[in-house]
Amino acid sequence: RRGWIEVIVGSMFSGKTEELIRRLNRAKIARQHVEIFKPGLDTRYHAEDVVSHNANSIRSTPVTFPNEMLLPASSCDVVGIDEAQFFDDSLVDVCNQLADHGVRVIVAGLDMDYLGKPFGPMPALLAVAEYVTKVHAVCVRCGDIASYSFRKIASAEQVLLGETDSYEARCRHCFLEGQHGK
Ligand code: ADP
Ligand code: MG
Ligand code: ZN
Repeated sequence: RRGWIEVIVGSMFSGKTEELIRRLNRAKIARQHVEIFKPGLDTRYHAEDVVSHNANSIRSTPVTFPNEMLLPASSCDVVGIDEAQFFDDSLVDVCNQLADHGVRVIVAGLDMDYLGKPFGPMPALLAVAEYVTKVHAVCVRCGDIASYSFRKIASAEQVLLGETDSYEARCRHCFLEGQHGK
């Protein structure tokens, strides 16, 4: 059994969770043993399910620290991790260890925060992954490809859980205009 790391990144609403669920469902069809994890703090839709914005969902296990995944994941063929940007940097080590032991690790997360800055462990994960997929949302202002998550409400916290009420997908141009108050 050979392991590797796949990373799926993009802005909010870009279809990361959708793509993660698609890959995991195909692994299940192939009768592989699959587990899905997410950070305990992401309870937007459901405490345990991973849910996409178009309401696809898959059962998952919430964990606080990445090393909690090691034991349950060690017996898996495929491990999915959603909202990976919320974990600390030890996630990189944990993903490497799992892949070294033959697990296919599929990680989805925001590559940038609401300021357009690299988010948590994602840059390091992108560096060590065998496969990287960047998905795009549609800019809600102009219809171009969007790679930024624009925060519509005033808050300087890097982590602010929210939905269409607090964030919108924007292209580079419209994101920049937004930074200048438009
Ligand atoms: P992510 O996990 O990247 O936040 P999801 O997989 O949860 O994204 O949701 C993707 C879905 O969000 C799309 O299939 C579409 O139905 C919906 N959606 C809502 N707003 C947008 C947008 N601005 N651009 C693209 N998709 C959007
Ligand atoms: Mg998602
Ligand atoms: Zn735009």
